[in-house]
Amino acid sequence: MNGHEIIRIDSIKWWMTTLTNGSRHPVPLCPDHDLRLTPIRPRVYNSVQRGYVNGYSEDAVELKCAEGPHKIAIPRTFSDEKQYVVDRVDAEVFKGMKVLNLDDEATPIAKDKIKSKNGKHFLTSQLMESKRGLQAVIYAGKKGSPAKTQILITPEEKRLAFDQKDLHPTEVFLKIEATFDDGSKHSIEK
Ligand SMILES: [Zn+2]
Repeated sequence: MNGHEIIRIDSIKWWMTTLTNGSRHPVPLCPDHDLRLTPIRPRVYNSVQRGYVNGYSEDAVELKCAEGPHKIAIPRTFSDEKQYVVDRVDAEVFKGMKVLNLDDEATPIAKDKIKSKNGKHFLTSQLMESKRGLQAVIYAGKKGSPAKTQILITPEEKRLAFDQKDLHPTEVFLKIEATFDDGSKHSIEK
């Protein structure tokens, strides 16, 4: 957004301008005549004067185009609608951004690594604490090879899971079996 774009939202054209303090200020334009639209101040009841008076422009729910003139209704108050336009423009940017999910972040609390006698294969087991509970992660593979298998065991789900991006567990193991505290078992085998 370079400040010279026109965005169409709620059947109105919005010209996105930037104020000197850096904040963005959408200006409504008539979709047919490209004229700036003026908010029509709502009539509000004033209990002191016992009658209807003009309310604030920011509370307007109708905009006026000088050509005609004709009116265009907006689904929110003028002030909320302008914020909505800025939010919609930003949502387009946020949509394309990568998400760093700290909810799923797990902290390692114990780690153990074992090697085969000839040193060619390794197995690392790690105990992780996360918001979703305790989980065990097992990595196994050939030493020096970037390909490995990663098996995730979550006691709550009572099953073995693995990452599709890595080697399938059966490419490393003949059989893996997990036994949970309720006696149930889950295995992956060739
Ligand atoms: Zn118009």
